Amino acid sequence: MTATPIDGKAFAAGLRERIAEHTAAMKERGITPGLAVVLVGEDPASQVYVRSKGKQTRETGMNSFEHRLPAETPEAELLALVEQLNEDPAVNGILVQLPLPDHMDEARVTNAIRPEKDVDGFHILNVGRLATGQKAMVPCTPLGSLMLLRDRLGSLSGKNALVIGRSNIVGKPMAQLLLRDSATVTIAHSRTQNLPELCRTADIVIAAVGRAHFVKGDWIKPGATVIDVGINRTDDGLVGDVDFAEAAQVAGAITPVPGGVGPMTIACLLANTLTATARANGLPDPE
Ligand code: NDP
Repeated sequence: MTATPIDGKAFAAGLRERIAEHTAAMKERGITPGLAVVLVGEDPASQVYVRSKGKQTRETGMNSFEHRLPAETPEAELLALVEQLNEDPAVNGILVQLPLPDHMDEARVTNAIRPEKDVDGFHILNVGRLATGQKAMVPCTPLGSLMLLRDRLGSLSGKNALVIGRSNIVGKPMAQLLLRDSATVTIAHSRTQNLPELCRTADIVIAAVGRAHFVKGDWIKPGATVIDVGINRTDDGLVGDVDFAEAAQVAGAITPVPGGVGPMTIACLLANTLTATARANGLPDPE
């Protein structure tokens, strides 16, 4: 293997430590950041996420508020809870775990969250703010991926970046963040032609496809930095969207799955909660 593995687990642990220090300093001023997580239904993966979000929130010294609603809850009831959390001064961040049951409209629920408390960064106002270069809440997975890239490469200015995937939660916001850092950004999706050739021109590859081992080693430009966002459950356990064994022979640096982007996502959720708390109290954004 020639590539340096990018240790997202260690980076996330360091980030959580800095968040805990900021949280302790805020508590001395009488401010305790609070994150409310709402889970509707009993999706097993969502239950795991919500549990570890709550645990890590408490470990950082923040208040964690969990709300569990049965799958058949009417949408109006969920919207009423969101409104109650919007008004609650002890709650600085609100996250409604997706996916929601089919009878609910995810966009309507997401857009009911007060944008200042929208720590997932999915509210239409935050999407627009990010796209127009204003202060926004930035979605956690792309934010965590950006931190790993900056840590590895320093400036991203002028680099050719290929984002594979155009979802609202990963691909599109990732592309916006790379653009904000002055990378030259290409977004690929299921209709893209000549993807392997396109990939071979990229200094930075972000794979957010949802297909195990989709990106092959011979797609990678020698020395490129590869961020694998994919989480795919297979008979061999959790694997990413990149064929790690192959790509690691060619890339300059690559995130493993698990232990790469995954741990960054929750750490960035806590970072967003801290930022939301600082802004709500007229304090500068924490570094
Ligand atoms: P989506 O299914 O919403 O989007 C997948 C994207 O991949 C789509 O834009 C789709 O294109 C594109 N795609 C599908 N097939 C191909 C193909 N053959 N060639 C090129 N592009 C293709 O997924 P998400 O963005 O929500 O998630 C992506 C992955 O990241 C998943 O594995 C998910 O589990 C993981 N994930 C990990 C997180 C973490 O914390 N690490 C957080 C969130 C997600 P089109 O739009 O044309 O259909």
